[in-house]
Amino acid sequence: MNNNDSIRISVGGDTVFVNKDDFKVGNRGSKNKQRRRKRGPRNPQPKEWLASNLSQMKIADYKPFNFVDGEGIRCSLYVSGCMFACPGCYNKAAQNFNYGTPYTQELEDRIIKDLGESYCQGLTLLGGEPFLNTQVCLKLVKRIRKEYGHEKDIWSWSGYTWDELMQESEDKLELLSNLDILVDGRFEQDLMDLTLQFRGSSNQRIIDVQRSLKEGQVVIWDKLTK
Ligand code: SF4
Repeated sequence: MNNNDSIRISVGGDTVFVNKDDFKVGNRGSKNKQRRRKRGPRNPQPKEWLASNLSQMKIADYKPFNFVDGEGIRCSLYVSGCMFACPGCYNKAAQNFNYGTPYTQELEDRIIKDLGESYCQGLTLLGGEPFLNTQVCLKLVKRIRKEYGHEKDIWSWSGYTWDELMQESEDKLELLSNLDILVDGRFEQDLMDLTLQFRGSSNQRIIDVQRSLKEGQVVIWDKLTK
């Protein structure tokens, strides 16, 4: 230990030998960066995070008629608030439950009207975390099912995996049961692949929700190409 690569440090009566490299300022910075980069997303216990405790019913953004948040032309609602804290999150500002503006009846009416356009395929829920904003998302998807049945499809992104959602609270399961497609799982920076269809990292899956619920196991979207 006491060789040319080590430095002896004495504090009070204690003596330790520390590797010289740990004392290079640049190295310390890059080690901290590595440590930060290695920190993954947070992993909740079942029912640990509840929309009833967390949601402020705020909206980070609403983007009607876009081509990127799923199949076809879609209306996308970005809800505010997410607990997963994935390093490299594409929408960090929307992790804050107080970010953005309140969800209003006027916005809901506008979304319903926009979905009525014949060229619009459906709604996409993103965030933030839709499953931690079930007060907003459930109200909206129930109204869509009431007014359009299954004529319009509903996609949602979630940091929760399918298996985690199966152990989750009633409101989350009810939201899931109203979806057609779920893109599941946290964004994992080490698994990032920008060539994937509709997802940022290869752990995430595009799940056919209705078939998965019927068959009791995850069924991947049959239009998946990559
Ligand atoms: S789950 Fe999505 S919104 Fe939440 S921190 Fe991760 S990437 Fe961001």
